[in-house]
Amino acid sequence: MADFIPYGRQSVTEADIAAVVDVLKSDFLTQGPVVPAFEDAVRSAVGARHAVAANSATSALHVACMALGVGPGDSVWTSPLTFVASSNAALYCGADVDFVDVDERSYNMCPVRLTDKLEAAAASGELPKVIIPVHLTGQSCDMAAIHAAASRYGVKIIEDASHAIGGRFGPDPVGSCRYSDIAVFSFHPVKIVTTGEGGMALTNDDELARLMRLDRSHGITRDAEMMHADDPGAWYYEQQRLGYNYRMTDINAALGFSQMGRLAEFIERRREIAQTYDAAFAAHPIQTPWQHPETASAWHLYVVRVAGRRAVFDALRDAGIGVNLHYIPVYLQPYYRDLGFEPGYCPNAERYYSEAISLPMFPSMTAEQQQRVIAEVTQAVAAAAAA
Ligand SMILES: *Cc1c(COP(=O)(O)O)cnc(C)c1O
Repeated sequence: MADFIPYGRQSVTEADIAAVVDVLKSDFLTQGPVVPAFEDAVRSAVGARHAVAANSATSALHVACMALGVGPGDSVWTSPLTFVASSNAALYCGADVDFVDVDERSYNMCPVRLTDKLEAAAASGELPKVIIPVHLTGQSCDMAAIHAAASRYGVKIIEDASHAIGGRFGPDPVGSCRYSDIAVFSFHPVKIVTTGEGGMALTNDDELARLMRLDRSHGITRDAEMMHADDPGAWYYEQQRLGYNYRMTDINAALGFSQMGRLAEFIERRREIAQTYDAAFAAHPIQTPWQHPETASAWHLYVVRVAGRRAVFDALRDAGIGVNLHYIPVYLQPYYRDLGFEPGYCPNAERYYSEAISLPMFPSMTAEQQQRVIAEVTQAVAAAAAA
């Protein structure tokens, strides 16, 4: 049988490995110079003022919510089509979560539904404190429209950009925070750039950056200028908030720093793979990803929609094609059902969920592998249509 083709995988070079080994031989495995260097590389690549690395995007989302003051009695809205971490971050803070249905073409949070829901919430005194739009598959949400709607009511924005480093909205790189308070990247190995595990929060706001830095390391500062005590001794540090140990290690940061040098190359290769899929599926009953004209996707995922999805999905897995599904609408998870959510809550997200398949997409995928995926997909779709 032919080799298994995963839906995503990391690209690690000898130079990446050497960069990690250098850290292992150095004085600092953590809290050394490589984390700030990696933060600076990402910050300057996306044009944001501050970058705060963390040990995962989940941690970064949590400290982002904390910095914006999310707590009990607050509400946070996100997209139903996301990984559970986007909404769990708000639950960690004791807030309530709610979901805004997606646009039926982009699969991202729908600005029109958001506007309507905000208007209703303003009328009933139940505005959210924060919304977390998610750039599904690497395509930016319509951030100008989302920002216009949220800022009318003073609602803050965290972009869950876990899929989208290297993407753009209009002329701006995702992560520039032109239309948000904070943006968060993930560096899990299936994402665009990896550190093994890791994440980063970007912001243009000095105070939000300060709070996120505190909260990723126990709420402790060693910066004399920020201390309550005057004339602190050299041993002295201060815990000012209840933070966590969410620090990234220098070992992880070295991999990320080395990978950042290939960001443009990664995105270019992903775009080529997407174009090849688009062309191959054009004459088949396969719905290829629609692209908002103002966006340039980072192409973390290539999602198609097909009739008879279950049969197509199973046939592809049987043929050694590592298809996947991003995502089960979050509120359909048992944990969220127990919070009171019911099937039917976000019809566009549920329709998407009944038809979507994520096809293999990663920079090192060979042309032969992609042709095999295309042949298996078109065959499985034809078989499902005939059944
Ligand atoms: C991967 C992912 C996360 C979580 O990222 P980690 O780095 O694994 O914590 C959050 N949101 C989305 C949309 C993701 O894809």
